[in-house]
Amino acid sequence: MEETRVAVVTGSNKGIGLAIVKDLCANFEGCVYLTARDEERGLETVEALQEEGLSVRFHQLDIDDEESIATFKTHLEETYGGLDVLVNNAAIAYKGSATESFGEQAENTIRVNFFGTLAVCRSLFPLLRPHARVVTLSSFVGFLPRVNGDEPQAFSLREKLSSDELTEDELSDLMNQFVETAKDGTWTEAGWQNSAYSVSKVGVTALTRVQQRAFDDDSREDLIVNCCNPGAVVTDMSSQRGVFTAEQGAECPVYLALLPPDVEEPKGAYVWHDKQVVDWVKGPLPGPY
Ligand code: NDP
Repeated sequence: MEETRVAVVTGSNKGIGLAIVKDLCANFEGCVYLTARDEERGLETVEALQEEGLSVRFHQLDIDDEESIATFKTHLEETYGGLDVLVNNAAIAYKGSATESFGEQAENTIRVNFFGTLAVCRSLFPLLRPHARVVTLSSFVGFLPRVNGDEPQAFSLREKLSSDELTEDELSDLMNQFVETAKDGTWTEAGWQNSAYSVSKVGVTALTRVQQRAFDDDSREDLIVNCCNPGAVVTDMSSQRGVFTAEQGAECPVYLALLPPDVEEPKGAYVWHDKQVVDWVKGPLPGPY
């Protein structure tokens, strides 16, 4: 068993995830895992980093594939016996020009962004060591008031999503209900907004709050999970539009990944790219993105 601290970043062969890996290589005391669903794309990126002199490890990880997640978990367990930092970065977003139906987009987006992230967490959380830090990439569109379909149904959804008693299973049911209504054309009447990507980011933000409550009751000391809005970042996802470079987009996730032991806050929070904790339910937001 290797005695080292371990950090993992999902979907890190490009974009913000790659910038997070580079930043962690420079600032995290331990080994850093670049992971990618496509082994070839991942290994190419790892080679390029190694040529830059960075020490990084690679493992295949598709967050949309239970077997891939289980294989990676076993690898971490057998090699290190634990995990210290997990950054849930991997996600997909359909372009405005996509021709798939809203139902299909909703199904795929929620499956990868919400259920994939949840599956990684459920699998890897048992490996977290005391003082572990988990960071999930949300978005400016992951703000609760974005749930703005027809009233009073939207109000009722916001109440459920922000409840202090919400469970992972109830949240999963809500995400599944969104997909069902997206398929039968009634999502607006059901209260949901017009963007599957936004619903998925509201979902992972609600999940962060549920997970921190479980961490607070965990026998392992000082486990912290936060989510963040990295800002509008120039990457493939944003079609190379945005105001921040990937390196700037990585700053807040890395700050949250490296929170020192026993900090009081942020915990279970929705954190803006400038590191401000934002009231997810009421705002105000520090800016539009
Ligand atoms: P990119 O599209 O540039 O990168 C996304 C990464 O996720 C890629 O490496 C992609 O792999 C990977 N990925 C997609 N699906 C899976 C999967 N099933 N398993 C593993 N990896 C997968 O996006 P960004 O870098 O812009 O986004 C990073 C995060 O930041 C996302 O969570 C995004 O929602 C969030 N975000 C981004 C904003 C922006 O302005 N860019 C704004 C707000 C939030 P592959 O190369 O194989 O496709």
